[in-house]
Parts: sequence; C-alpha cells; structure tokens
Amino acid sequence: MITDSPVVMGGTVRRATKHNGSGKEATADGATANGTSGKEASTYNGKEHNWALQATARINQDGIWQHVLTMGIIYLTYWINQQPATARAYDDLTAKYGAFNINLWGSFIVSTAVYWTLGLIFMAFDMNDTLHSYVKRFKIQPDRRITWAEYRKVMLCVVKNQLFVNLPLIYGVARWAILDTSSNLPGWWKTVGVYFGCMICEEVGFYSMHRLVHHPKLYARVHKMHHLFTAPVAFASTYCTLAEQVFSNIGPILIGIVLMRPHWSLMILFFCSLEIGTLCTHSDYNIPGLYDALIHDWHHYAFTENFGPTGLLDDILGTNKQYKVWLAELRRRDGEGWKHAARTTLADATQ
Ligand SMILES: [Zn+2]
Ligand SMILES: [Zn+2]
Repeated sequence: MITDSPVVMGGTVRRATKHNGSGKEATADGATANGTSGKEASTYNGKEHNWALQATARINQDGIWQHVLTMGIIYLTYWINQQPATARAYDDLTAKYGAFNINLWGSFIVSTAVYWTLGLIFMAFDMNDTLHSYVKRFKIQPDRRITWAEYRKVMLCVVKNQLFVNLPLIYGVARWAILDTSSNLPGWWKTVGVYFGCMICEEVGFYSMHRLVHHPKLYARVHKMHHLFTAPVAFASTYCTLAEQVFSNIGPILIGIVLMRPHWSLMILFFCSLEIGTLCTHSDYNIPGLYDALIHDWHHYAFTENFGPTGLLDDILGTNKQYKVWLAELRRRDGEGWKHAARTTLADATQ
C-alpha cells in the first residue's frame, strides 16, 4: 500500500510517491519514509535546511565522548611526562640540540606531522568510495563532495600557511618567549591548568577575531576565502588568507602560551589537541567519539552563527539561535519517525 509521507530532500519538503514493492515509499535515492501524516510539514515555520538531516550525523551532538577525548589527550601528556625515560630524553635532547632548536623545529615538526597525518586520514575517507561508505552515515552534508582539484588547491594553501605563518610565529615564541625544555616536567594540576587557561584565551580570542573578520569591511579581504566551502573538509581548516591564519587561527593560541610560559610539552599538548579539534570540526563528519563537528559545520553552512570554537560564547551571546531551532526541529522529526533521504554523490561531484 502506498502511504503519503513527507520526505525531506534537498532542503524542500515534498511528497514521495514511488512504490518500492515493500509496502513503504522510496525516494529517488532509495531511502524509505515510514508512515507519518502530512500535517507535520506545516508545523515548522522556519527555513528548511539541507543540513544534518541524517539522524546518525547527530548522534555525536554535545556528546560526552569528546570531553573524554580531551581528558584522554591531557592524561596521555601527563603520563608521558611522568615517565623517567621522558625526563632523561628531555635532558639529552636539550643538551644535544639546545632549547631554542627544540622550541623552533621540535614544535614545527610535531605540529605539522600531527596535522598532516590526521588530515590525510580524513582525505582518504573523503576520496575513496569504499572508505567513504563506512562513514557516510555520519556526514553532515552528504550531498556535498569535494573534487581532487579542490583538494590540491586546499593542500597548497595549507603548506603556504604552515611555512609563512606557523613557522615564523613559532620562531617568534622560540626567540622572545622561549619555553622550558628541561626535565623539570609539569604535574597533573599544572597540566590541566595550562590546558584550560589556554582554552579560555582561545575561546575569547578566536570568537572575537572571527566576529571581527565577518565585518563587511574585512570579510571579503580576510575571511571570504575560508568560506569557499559550505561543506568543508578537514584540511579546509587552514584554507584561509595569511592574515586570518595570523590573527584568527594562531594568534589566540599563542597569547595563552606566551602569558603562561608553560613547559614546552604543554604547548605541544595544546597545539595538537586544537589541531585534532579543528580537523574533526571541519571534516563534515560527526563521528561518535570524535569532536562534535555540528557547531562549526553550521557556521560554514549558514555563515552568520556559531563563531566560537566550543560554542560557549555563542551560547552566552546568543549567536546560535537558528542553529538550536533547526536541531530542535530535526529532533522533533526524529521523534515522529521522519526519514530523510541521504544522498552521497560520486567523489567528482563538485560543491
Ligand atoms: Zn572554518
Ligand atoms: Zn566565518
């Protein structure tokens, strides 16, 4: 029997009429919609968004596991720092290379290696159809896929920003605010305190700079480039102008580091955890256990909300109202049994 259920696809509500022989309706993509009456379509008066329609892409929303991940990274750093071999390694490396070289090249090599390793893993899941099939249910905007040509452009920009912004700024810290690389390693409370102290600087600094670069006088010159991708990929986290990389991306991180001047290992902890965070939140996959990608993905989709890295200041300052309204609407539809068509087109389909 053919029922008359609402199916949301491509940002519009339409009626599905195709019979698939199983007693349920099917969209053009084969996704089924179960029996709900048509009246739900008229109860939501806001704008329809072709965003996070798959319920599986919202499992990780505000998930506890991302905090477990953060605490796990902090604990791993603390544990490594407590090992006698680590203390010996710091003494040996400092004697051999000097604190300046560890501050400069150690920081650059470790942070660049972590960024590229995770970025390439995400790229494999974007571009290989077999790998993509394992994660497409977590994709927030499954009808958007990046091309190889776009990926090349993004990676060239990543290299440019790492060489011409990250390296000089790391040099600046090594030259004028050199961090301790001795075996005098920090304990648990210092490790936690430095992490959250830096995180407060990052939240305030990034939120403020991000809202500033959305000002009409700055947007086109500084920030428009980063918004090329309405459905970003992990490497697109560093697809931006040099000015944005200096003032918005790296500046707020270094403010916390320079103010607290912690042991070098804690700067690496903070760099790497932020890199993992920004790669996850730009990946367009909201995978349970990783960082919640919905908040920043909505910023790329909608442009005018969710400016901060954690959502805390967006909550306080009310710059996430439509985001909350749409997620509440999707939850309501989940409860009423709506099934949204999830399309994943070929890798060569453009944004
Ligand atoms: Zn972004
Ligand atoms: Zn923006």
